[in-house]
Order: sequence, then C-alpha cells, then structure tokens
Amino acid sequence: MPDILIIGGGLAGMAAAAALVSGGNRVTLLESRPRLGGRASSFVDQTTGTTIDNCQHVNLGCCTNFRHFCDVTGISDSLRTEPSMTFIGTNRRGPDLYFRLFPNSILAPLQPSFRTHLLCASPLPAPLHLLPSFARLSYLTWYDKWRLAWGLKALAHRKIAGSNEIMSDWLRRHRQTPNTIQRVWQVVLVSALSESLDRIAVKDARKVFVDAFLANRHGWELQIPTAPLDTLYTQRVATWLRGQGTDVRPLAGVSRICMENDRATGVELRDGRILLADEIILAVPSFSVAALLPEHVAALPVIQGLKELEWAPISSVHLWFDRPIMPLPHATLVDRLSQWVFDREVADAPGGEVANYYQVVISASRELEGREQSDIIRDVVNELTEIWPMAQGARLINGRVVTEHKACLSMLPQNESLRPGSQSPIANVSFAGDWTATGWPSTMEGAVRSGYLAAENVAQHLGQPKRFVQPDLPVSWLARVLLGI
Ligand SMILES: Cc1cc2nc3c(=O)[nH]c(=O)nc-3n(C[C@H](O)[C@H](O)[C@H](O)COP(=O)(O)OP(=O)(O)OC[C@H]3O[C@@H](n4cnc5c(N)ncnc54)[C@H](O)[C@@H]3O)c2cc1C
Repeated sequence: MPDILIIGGGLAGMAAAAALVSGGNRVTLLESRPRLGGRASSFVDQTTGTTIDNCQHVNLGCCTNFRHFCDVTGISDSLRTEPSMTFIGTNRRGPDLYFRLFPNSILAPLQPSFRTHLLCASPLPAPLHLLPSFARLSYLTWYDKWRLAWGLKALAHRKIAGSNEIMSDWLRRHRQTPNTIQRVWQVVLVSALSESLDRIAVKDARKVFVDAFLANRHGWELQIPTAPLDTLYTQRVATWLRGQGTDVRPLAGVSRICMENDRATGVELRDGRILLADEIILAVPSFSVAALLPEHVAALPVIQGLKELEWAPISSVHLWFDRPIMPLPHATLVDRLSQWVFDREVADAPGGEVANYYQVVISASRELEGREQSDIIRDVVNELTEIWPMAQGARLINGRVVTEHKACLSMLPQNESLRPGSQSPIANVSFAGDWTATGWPSTMEGAVRSGYLAAENVAQHLGQPKRFVQPDLPVSWLARVLLGI
C-alpha cells in the first residue's frame, strides 16, 4: 500500500487527504499548528477566553468543489444557505413612508437615509434571474443601471476570458459611471477577490461575474458556516478523515523534504523524526515552500518565482455588544469602510457576560495599515450606529481587529504566470494550495480544487488515474445565447 504524506492541514491538504484516502492508500496529514484549517481557522481570544474565527468565511453556489468537499466530509449541515444577499445603501429616493409618518421611531430597522436591498433570484432563467433585484437598487440612477448592463454584457463575452488588462482601466474604457464603479463593481469584486480594482485582472473579474451572477441561477447563493471553523475542520473533518483511515497529526511541523537520487524519500519533522513516503503533497503557503526543498530545487526559477507572488490583506473587526445591534443575519454595506457585517449570535464576553457578537469584514484593507485598533473599532461602530437605530445606546463590551496580511493572492496578471501547476520539479512531490494554477482565485474553492488536482496527480503517479475535480455549474442556454459565455 503506497504511503502518501500531505504537508499542511489547510483546505488544500484536507481536500487532498479526503480524495486519496478512498483509494486504498496510507495517507498521513501533517500540520504544524494544533488546529486544522490554516487560513480558515479559529484561535483563542485572550480577552474573552473564547475560540473565535480568524475571519468570517463564506462561499457561493459556484464553489462546486468546496461544496463537494463539505458533502463528502459530512459538514454541509453546518453551512446555512441565505435566502438572499442583503445590501444596505444610501436612499436616493428619500425616507420610506414609515419614516415620513414616524421620523424618530426607534422601531425602524434602518435610519431614514439608508435602504435595504435584497438580492435574490426571480423565476427568470439565468442570466436574467437577478435582473429585477438589480433594477430595484435605489443607490443607482437608471443611467447607471443601463451602463452597468452594457458593462456586464461586455465583460461576460468569452473573447475576454484571457484578458490581462487591469480592471480599473477596463471600467474607464467601458464608460462605467462613478456610481456603478463604487457601488457595484468595487463592492462585488473587492469582497470576492480581496483586492482593489487597480490590482485585479479583467479575466478574474469576469470569472466572478460570470460564475456567480450570470451563468447559472444558483451561482450567487451565499453559504455561511453556522459553527466555528475550528469545529468544522479541527473536530469534524479531522474525525471523518481519521474514520476513513487517515493519520491526522497536528503539531507535526515538517522541516525538510528528504531526497535520494532526485526522488523524495520522506520528510524530517521539526523534532528530528523521519517519516518515509512514496508520494508527497506540499500543501503549505507558497512562501513556505522553498525552505522545505533541497537547495538545488529551491534555486529553480519556478520556486524562486513563488517569492514574487503578491498577497492582499483582509481585516476582521470583532465586536461584542450588550444587545443586538442589527435585525439581519448578514449585510453588505455600500460606500462604507465596513464591507460585510455578520451576526455571529450570542457569545461569551469578558467578565462572564453573555454578549451579541458581530464580525465586520474589510477586504484589501491596506488603508488600515498603521492605524490604532481603537480608531478602527470606533469608525466601524459609528458606521453601524449610523445605519441601525437599534445600535444606538448599545454598549460595546469588547472589540478587536485581526488582520491577515497575506490573506489571499492578489489577482494581478504578473501573479498568474508565477502560479505553478500541481507537479513540482521533484517527480514524486505535488503542489497544492490556493496559490497554485487552478484557474480560480485564491479562495476556499481554489484551495479545495488544488487539493483535488494534487490528488489526481498522485493517483496518476501511482498508476490509478482518477478524476476528483468536480464540474462547474452548467451555463444556462439563455446565457450562452445572450452573452456568448
Ligand atoms: C481573513 C481571511 C478571510 C478569508 N475569507 C474567505 C472567504 O470568505 N471565502 C473564501 O472562499 N476564502 C476566504 N479566504 C481565503 C481562504 O481562507 C484561503 O484561500 C484558503 O483557506 C487557503 O487554503 P490552503 O490550504 O491553500 O492554505 P492554508 O490555509 O494557508 O494552509 C496551509 C497549512 O500549512 C500549514 N503549514 C505551513 N508550514 C508547514 C510545515 N512546515 N509543516 C506542516 N504544516 C505546515 C499551515 O499551518 C496551514 O495550516 C480568506 C482568507 C483569510 C486569511
């Protein structure tokens, strides 16, 4: 029975293990930290003593491989599909009737200058299913909407699927209005790709809009975990993997890959132990790869190129209030510093209090660099109070800002050419990770795809070729006819 070692217990490593364990292989998953999940994981907050997620993670209906991984490992029951996506924008049309009648009511869900928009599918077939929701956006004029429709049609066409133009230039060239750029293109793309519009290639922007909003009526559906990431991965997936026969070893950091005659023979752990292997999958972040390889391999251009990959930061602001501050499970805020707010329900707070716990996500958060935590928290709380009357008077019990500086790979054209495939320069070592060339941005879906691709590579080496990567959602006939997707 072949021995397969997987280094790195993030989503890429877990997905590779889930795929390979079913093929009668002896699979060992080595993770340096005490927890699985990597960048999608939890940590113990010293102030509250509770385990919190590093950041809210969400996925969309178009993430077919991530969803497959959740189904296979049995954690899908801990993902809630939202019936709609909620956007909160300024109210161009003036206060609703309710506010005209009761201008000072604290029962109103929103302050009069804001309006809630629900994005959800109408019975129309894709790509028209979201049209009625977009048409109702009150923070765009009809001219904005018309320009947006033309922009989307131009972006969707398959002839630009390989375009390396920068998105901000493309938007200018396609005469998108400042309103559509700031309130639609930026809102969607910064959330999906964790980068600013001047650091996103058109082909990646196209992928987001086509896969999530245009090709299939289920692509946009938002899923939110209902349990902490630690429960999903360190507990449930690890238990499932062990049940299938995988040897899951947390606190097993690898210090190097051992070689003999140009083939890997195994790994040395940080405590000096040697583990032998027939096949190895290296599922660590790109910036940790070179240090694990022998010098002559680390010197190769493909490995040196990994050092040039550029990453984008994501910040999450964790807030514990003494009462509920918003009446929604999630909201996307338009024109604000806070991009997404998630109600994480009740949680323990310092001093044994029970609090209402919220997470605010700020992607591509370079503008926060160098700012005091208390400053950021104050600005975010002010924004929430400005929007929801019920937040006024709420006492902030605790707040903290967590920034992951290398959260996601920047979707820059120069990055794309540096992403290697799953075959490493060593014959029996495969690469996995959201930084490999999966055709997807660096997301949970990209990470799971990379794990499945690495598993396919290993299966090929072992003479048992098998397909693990799941197909995309089908493109609707009308999207093909109308948009040429
Ligand atoms: C703040 C934040 C928010 C995000 N939000 C979303 C979101 O909402 N939706 C989404 O789809 N994606 C999101 N992402 C991106 C997503 O988390 C990542 O794309 C994905 O988790 C990457 O998985 P990975 O397995 O490729 O890498 P990692 O998660 O980085 O896993 C690599 C693992 O290797 C381990 N390791 C490193 N060196 C060694 C060694 N020497 N020995 C053993 N183990 C080692 C690490 O400890 C780590 O566990 C977010 C990321 C961040 C940081």
